[in-house]
Amino acid sequence: MPFNFKKTLIVMELIFQDMLKTNFVIPLYPTTFRETIIPVPTPSGVTDLPPNIYFDLDNRFNAEQEQRIRDAISETMLVWATHMNEKWNGGTNNGISQMAACTNIYATKNLRPAWYSESPIQNGLTATNIAMDQFTQLIRDNGFRRSPRAKIFAAPLNNNTIVFALTAFTQNFVPLSFIVDPTLIDIATLNFITGSMMHSWLHCAGFFDPNTTSYFNTECSMCVMRGFRPKNPDMPDNLYYQFFD
Ligand SMILES: [Zn+2]
Repeated sequence: MPFNFKKTLIVMELIFQDMLKTNFVIPLYPTTFRETIIPVPTPSGVTDLPPNIYFDLDNRFNAEQEQRIRDAISETMLVWATHMNEKWNGGTNNGISQMAACTNIYATKNLRPAWYSESPIQNGLTATNIAMDQFTQLIRDNGFRRSPRAKIFAAPLNNNTIVFALTAFTQNFVPLSFIVDPTLIDIATLNFITGSMMHSWLHCAGFFDPNTTSYFNTECSMCVMRGFRPKNPDMPDNLYYQFFD
């Protein structure tokens, strides 16, 4: 079976098993899970947030790998919370976050999430604001246990991909389910793991690949990895996006 197709089947199978509450799908990779609970930060101007989000973590991950995955998820939520705080701007809610400003410079393509049907999205600034509002939705649906249980599966990924997720076609009740490469999670630096995690969350928020320069999902995730600094010619884009799915 081609490798990308197999990864897609694993994630779809996990989602279907939860949605249909059935085990008739033959497991491709039978495993057991343990729950890991991660606190949600509380940005200004965002109400109705759960205290935690919840993941069923593949028991093949050891405690150290679990901590690195938890750190990357916490960092991703910190990026979201920082954006929300900067946008809230003391109550005006018209601030331009560092992430939105950075992404606006570089992202010109695939600005529209799969589920979005309103007027065209003009720039990376608007796309970032939409993406981070959708992160709020993903966090609420997970933390209030409205979406199917989010599963984090241990399986080798091709090339240098650290985290893999499917692009969501709907806005509500999307599970934050990922595949994480157990070898790369051991050796990659937290910055690269967080960038790959961020990229996968943007897939869950409805943003498509391709994974290359000027596409929103890739540029936004690379802005996070550069700490929102401008691009440096000594650090080509593929140095970053080689870790994305
Ligand atoms: Zn991707």
